[in-house]
Amino acid sequence: MIDLNEQDLFNIFSSSPVGLCILDAQTLICRMVNDSFLEVAGKSRDAIIGQYYWDSFAEVADVYQPALANVVKTGEAFVASEAELNLIRNGREETVFVSFKYIPVKDPSGQVKSIAVWVYEKTAEVQSRLLIAEAEKTLRNLIMQAPVAVIVFRGADMRIAAVNSFMLQLLGKTAEIEGQQLLDAIPELTGQEPEALLHKVFETGQPEFGMNIPVMMNRDGETKTGYFNFSYTALIEEGRIVGVIDMAVEVTAQVIAHQEVQQRKDDFISIASHELKTPITSLKASLQLMDRMKNQPDSPMLPKLIEQGVRSMDKISELVDALLNASQRNGAQPELNKSTFTISRLLDECCSHVRADGVYHLVFEGDAELQVTADEHRIDQVVINFVNNAVKYASEAKTIYLIAEDLGDRVRIGVRDDGPGIPADQQEHLFERYYRSDHNSQSRSGLGLGLFISAEIVRRHGGEIGVDSTIGKGSTFWFTLPA
Ligand code: ADP
Repeated sequence: MIDLNEQDLFNIFSSSPVGLCILDAQTLICRMVNDSFLEVAGKSRDAIIGQYYWDSFAEVADVYQPALANVVKTGEAFVASEAELNLIRNGREETVFVSFKYIPVKDPSGQVKSIAVWVYEKTAEVQSRLLIAEAEKTLRNLIMQAPVAVIVFRGADMRIAAVNSFMLQLLGKTAEIEGQQLLDAIPELTGQEPEALLHKVFETGQPEFGMNIPVMMNRDGETKTGYFNFSYTALIEEGRIVGVIDMAVEVTAQVIAHQEVQQRKDDFISIASHELKTPITSLKASLQLMDRMKNQPDSPMLPKLIEQGVRSMDKISELVDALLNASQRNGAQPELNKSTFTISRLLDECCSHVRADGVYHLVFEGDAELQVTADEHRIDQVVINFVNNAVKYASEAKTIYLIAEDLGDRVRIGVRDDGPGIPADQQEHLFERYYRSDHNSQSRSGLGLGLFISAEIVRRHGGEIGVDSTIGKGSTFWFTLPA
């Protein structure tokens, strides 16, 4: 038996950190109250001691007066856990959270003679819990509404705690994967870089970033490589790593476009080298033969070799010019050197090399007197290009038509062949840089620059360029110049 007197018990009561108030069960008048109770109540001792309880707490009487009455009547305790009360504390209304109990104190006959009201303030606890819940909700909304794909993993077993619709779309999955483990949800990641990196971030807490990372993905029933930029960041709670946040952006289209550009460049370089190799080899052969004859200046071979060397050199300059022209497109371009000339004369003179060979028949059609003001040398280049293409790509047809037409405000110059024609879907691309249509150009050498350069020249003159062609019926390449 512990030896405590009344004074001891009173001291314990007074200094208790739990609020306590003793009421007379019949009158509900407060007989005793400790400081902790007054603190929670936010009222002075005089406002409570010796007062009818519901006078002191009129602001909550509505709700709890029946409960207290019931305790008196039945002798059974009443417990409220974290009840939200609008209390008037120190003269001001405040919303607080309080846990309290009405405990009946009975006399030996079982009659309820007093009520002990125990109170503990819970406001700070409840509010911090609400704040955390609020923060979690905000975080979740942030993830769900983020304009990039986000997925959050929790725990060392990489359980999916949240995943937004962008990520589901990117993964080709449905919301069912939420709550599943990484490799159950996305088995195709097994052994791939993202899987290893997620675990690494979880272990080290150091973020990981990736650019253009290839990942084999299973989407729409197909396994294909996708490319992604991503960031993996440790999810840290109270100083501990509890998961990983994965944000990703798909860049497959950009990576493929880049690869294609790279491929075209590589193709072009190999075509260009190949094209240059032929005349260079021939020039080298001429020079080697000439070298052997340097002591026989009278040899009848010499003029032939010189001529052959000059032709090879011309071909090389022509190719180099074409390459320079194409690469200068965005740089400074030489001024147009305009003069007025008769178109039929230009058409007559420009293709002497074809006439001299005697294989092709060049026929002029249209207005022989028509004149135009333009850079004659450049227009010549365009026409030669058309005619050379007709020889190259329509070699079976032996007649090439050169046409000059007066369209009033413009003149139109055309080169027509009776060759195989060009498929409609390829026609619009013919004037693009490095474009070579695949239906007939594979067997012929070329850089795919002739028409591109022609289009540039015509555009600089303020004219238009185009082709009319039907499969099996030949092609007419034409351009217009302002009159
Ligand atoms: P290249 O002759 O070096 O390939 P061009 O720009 O001069 O480059 O021509 C582009 C493509 O247009 C050629 O690869 C060829 O397929 C097509 N082409 C040009 N002229 C004709 C033509 N008269 N008939 C059929 N195809 C042609």
